[in-house]
Amino acid sequence: MTSHTLGVEISCDGPDEQTDCPDSAAVHARFGSLSARQVRADGRKDGWTVRRAPGRLRDVCPGCRANTQPAV
Ligand SMILES: [Zn+2]
Repeated sequence: MTSHTLGVEISCDGPDEQTDCPDSAAVHARFGSLSARQVRADGRKDGWTVRRAPGRLRDVCPGCRANTQPAV
């Protein structure tokens, strides 16, 4: 049996404004995470980052983050 969790889906906005995410990545939300805030918290555990952009937030998956930030 397959169940589909109702809630928000956070998908990748990276790597930049003009380019779609090559992986079309989305956060794998934990059970019980329903709000955008909760799902973003899940994403951070997987290496996602949230960037402030004018008027909204941009969610960036680990793959795009690696493409847009210099390696540390
Ligand atoms: Zn991405």
